[in-house]
Amino acid sequence: MNEPIVGIDLGTTNSEIAVVRDGQPQVFSINGEPILPSVVGLSPDGKLLVGQAARNQYVLAPERTIKSIKRKMGQDVTVDLGGREYRPQEISAMILRTLRDRAAQALARPVRKAVITVPAYFNDAQRQATREAGELAGLEVVRILNEPTAAALAYDLGRSKRRHVLVYDLGGGTFDVSIVLCERGVVEVLASHGDTRLGGDDFDELLLNAVCDRFAERHGIDLRADRVARARLLRSVEAAKRRLSDHPFATVEEEFIAEKNGQPLHVTEEFSRDEFEAMIQPWIDRTMVCVQKALVDAEIVGRMIDEVVLVGGATRTPRIGQLLTERLGRPAHREINPDLIVALGAALQGAIIAGEEVGAVLVDVTPHSLGVKVRDQMSMLEGLDTPFRFVPIIERNTPLPASRSEVFLTIVDRQKVVEVDVYQGEDEDVRRNHRVGRFLVEGLAPVPAGNPIVVQLDLNLDGMLRVSAREKATGLQKQITIQNALATFENTELEAARERLDDLWESSFGDGYAFDESNEAAEQEALPPAHERSTAAGLAATISGGGSDDHIGARETVQAHALLEKAERALERVLADDRADFERMMARVRTALADRQWTVLSAASNELADALFYLEDR
Ligand code: ADP
Ligand code: MG
Repeated sequence: MNEPIVGIDLGTTNSEIAVVRDGQPQVFSINGEPILPSVVGLSPDGKLLVGQAARNQYVLAPERTIKSIKRKMGQDVTVDLGGREYRPQEISAMILRTLRDRAAQALARPVRKAVITVPAYFNDAQRQATREAGELAGLEVVRILNEPTAAALAYDLGRSKRRHVLVYDLGGGTFDVSIVLCERGVVEVLASHGDTRLGGDDFDELLLNAVCDRFAERHGIDLRADRVARARLLRSVEAAKRRLSDHPFATVEEEFIAEKNGQPLHVTEEFSRDEFEAMIQPWIDRTMVCVQKALVDAEIVGRMIDEVVLVGGATRTPRIGQLLTERLGRPAHREINPDLIVALGAALQGAIIAGEEVGAVLVDVTPHSLGVKVRDQMSMLEGLDTPFRFVPIIERNTPLPASRSEVFLTIVDRQKVVEVDVYQGEDEDVRRNHRVGRFLVEGLAPVPAGNPIVVQLDLNLDGMLRVSAREKATGLQKQITIQNALATFENTELEAARERLDDLWESSFGDGYAFDESNEAAEQEALPPAHERSTAAGLAATISGGGSDDHIGARETVQAHALLEKAERALERVLADDRADFERMMARVRTALADRQWTVLSAASNELADALFYLEDR
């Protein structure tokens, strides 16, 4: 190995360091964590603290702690740390040096050269200050690399055909969106927009205020006034926020947070993801305005974007990926860890400069979506031939190991049983997917319809899937483990495997467990008379967000019809040679529409829209 050139993401909130080994970029851990908080402080006895320890003392001792120094890079200012003045470069150098030392220790050799990333909007002074910080830390900065460029490199987008990539980066305190053009190894930033005062920290603050408001209402005490309480709560709400990215509920819990009349008071507040996403919606909307501005500046329209890449820890909030998909008609890439992707890309750039062979970043992802069958009232109203729909819980291309849960609701009053029927596949019509297992949860509380059932899927690197279902109100739970949930099947094999499984199921459990009429009959006695129930009476649960799926379907349908009309009108302008192709594209859209295959429809519509676009261009 030549002398290594490391890649460093020097972030406002967090920093990371990586290097390419055997063609693969890897991130170095610091105290077991791949992420080093970009916080510097002095301990009560005057010792320098960098990273988590400094972050922990921030709220308690702000006078001895510095965070977000990146915001000051390039300015002619100083900051005070324990009575001494430092330039921003010096503080950044302390972070860089911590990273460098860790890498040197892990590699068991000195580390002298680095690629350091900066936001695309950084001006010369800010870039120069970053270089100086590197030099102060004993590093030769072989290149200052734009963060979105690093992210595009990590996805190996630079080496394929000409592509427009939108990089959406939402960190702790800043938001950036860049449009980059990748072509044969060259990555060019066409436009960049952002908001330097918007990020995950704002979301923590919203949750903190919600907790404190509720507490004040109940006990008449404002916890924000107490530094220690505030510090504890901030940590707790951030953890809850992270949990909400993968699970439908999270609880903020802190014991003995205050005292009243000699009695200790505790905080226990539960938030749902829906609640949280509603809270942050105005902030997300602001990012979407920036996305629009960046597109305008790059002089392109949304449908010309070939790839969308998510960067920054805060993009783990599912709503963000969903909104971008809706706006741009492309699923957003999140296969590479959004916290580490910039450092990984910087390491790749370093290796390329060092003349090493590099490969694409390898990630372990699930090649198929895993989810459950739900009874869907909408499709029944629409007279579809199946009342069942497939709802993914772990989406395709999610990095492993993955743990996700979603909440589903019972659909009849006093429903005693739910069936959890787990499938693998991408089709909304559950019958076209592959069943991997099922079980029943029996003995639910006799409550009205709408009883929340949390279904959790845990998938490990070996493809072992654990499925659990829990009645939220009572904690009643049942689970199964499925080996080899990711085994892939050829089409014919799939059919055979499905039948084998069905046979096995029938022979093991008898008819009682087969879903359909037999179960419905078993249910009858416990339920109100049929006419009082929805026609959907049965075992399946319906998802709370089920409506949004229909919403997507409805929207895409309208768009597709409009597109077809436009294509029809344009048909005469299509050159004779291209006509067959053009008609084939239109047919694909029509078929996807008829089959209600939203993913296929979206791809087919994009293809047709592109063709139309070029036609108009002529
Ligand atoms: P920066 O690039 O600005 O240094 P990062 O990309 O490291 O910042 O993002 C940090 C932010 O991401 C923090 O606000 C953190 O709470 C948030 N974050 C990290 N993980 C998650 C998660 N799983 N869900 C939601 N937010 C997260
Ligand atoms: Mg960042």
